[in-house]
Amino acid sequence: MADTLKRSAGRNLAKLATKPAAADIIECFPLPIAVLDHTGEAVLLNKLFNQKYRQEILHSQSVRETLHESGAGWKTLNIPHGVNDAVACRAQTVDLPAGSMLIFDDTADEKALRELDQLETQVSALRRLCSTDVLTGAWNRRHFEEVVVAELERGVRHRQPVSLVLFDIDHFKRINDTYGHQAGDLVLRELVSVVRATIRSIDMLFRWGGEEFVVIAASTGYRGSAALAEKIREAVETHLFQGVGSVTVSLGVAERLAPESAETWFRRLDDALYLAKNNGRNRVWVERLGSSDLWAAESGPSVVRLVWQEAYECGEPTIDAQHLELFALANAALDASFKTAEPRGPFEAAIDKLLAHIVKHFADEEAILDARGYSDLARHKAAHASLLAQADKLRAAVAADRTSTGELVQFLADKVIARHLFAADRKFFPLFANQSAQGSK
Ligand code: GH3
Ligand code: MG
Ligand code: MG
Repeated sequence: MADTLKRSAGRNLAKLATKPAAADIIECFPLPIAVLDHTGEAVLLNKLFNQKYRQEILHSQSVRETLHESGAGWKTLNIPHGVNDAVACRAQTVDLPAGSMLIFDDTADEKALRELDQLETQVSALRRLCSTDVLTGAWNRRHFEEVVVAELERGVRHRQPVSLVLFDIDHFKRINDTYGHQAGDLVLRELVSVVRATIRSIDMLFRWGGEEFVVIAASTGYRGSAALAEKIREAVETHLFQGVGSVTVSLGVAERLAPESAETWFRRLDDALYLAKNNGRNRVWVERLGSSDLWAAESGPSVVRLVWQEAYECGEPTIDAQHLELFALANAALDASFKTAEPRGPFEAAIDKLLAHIVKHFADEEAILDARGYSDLARHKAAHASLLAQADKLRAAVAADRTSTGELVQFLADKVIARHLFAADRKFFPLFANQSAQGSK
């Protein structure tokens, strides 16, 4: 009972430490606690800690090792005591938003500590069993859902891409029908060992359901994951399955796009697999889109997605709202343009919506600038007209298949929206500077 209480204490304290009253609770907590910042410096040592230990123990090797194992539960360790002595105790580390918290427990005797270690080994074996698919030994769907959430958070925190490779056996029903369900089961098991031998040890393989599997490719963008998927495809294709012969898989790849929900990400992944199937099976389909490009675009000149920033606001509400809308529509068109093998319908619809918005926005902006008596209006109008003429020409060329859809969308996003806003539009920003200052008062 006491152990259960202490175990959950760690989790509860992690929540509490973010609240103002946390310091008081930590201070009076019935176990020694040290709260450290990201650099490992102590920011809070509670009463019991000060009674039992010296601050220097926090720099000892055993404590530093425990610090690196946050979330791993209680660890047994020896804490320096006196000059040459050490005392056994257990401790666990809990991550906090701005550092970590070490909770010590020296109330258990050595025998109890050993028993606890054994219990923890059993618990982790049990946990592993609950996370594993019984037939194939791959991780199961339940575990996928836990891991993917952690990967999403890690990816955003460290600006690391994360991709999913979803694959499904081609015509598996035929294998079952021809060789029997048991042979089908063996194919599933063999497939898992073939794939495991192909992927890196940090890429986790999950059984998504039936004859569908998914790999989480950590710290990997869509390019690397496409290569990984191709390796899997080839390994399966060239393997001879016992009693069945050759088997193929179709694979879809989707890299996470940082602001999207997990559902949207999975839907893109599902669509990619669907396209791999629809385009002949035994192939990889990649959505060439992801945060790795977005982050590169932020630091480089190529426009892959437009990223709105506060500094783009001029202070005139109609113009600002329309500029924001332009960014969203351009990004939707960019997204659609990446799906090059899809029917052109959705892309053309996205482009026409964007073009219509540009026409309306240019007209509205001109009227607002006119009402304000903008001295450079004639030149601004001429710039608008020239951009629209070029856009119309490119649109016609796309319709006639004389140029790629990618070229048109790049032109609209880059020249018509991004560069025009940064260069020409910024010249009229001072007109509304006072308005914006008043608005923010
Ligand atoms: P496609 O190429 O379009 O994926 O065709 P398919 O025949 O593989 O696809 P479909 O989804 O129609 O059939 C999947 C089959 O997988 C049907 C189902 O009985 C079989 N299956 C699902 N889970 C298992 C399993 O655990 N063991 C065996 N032997 N078969 C399974
Ligand atoms: Mg299927
Ligand atoms: Mg199948």
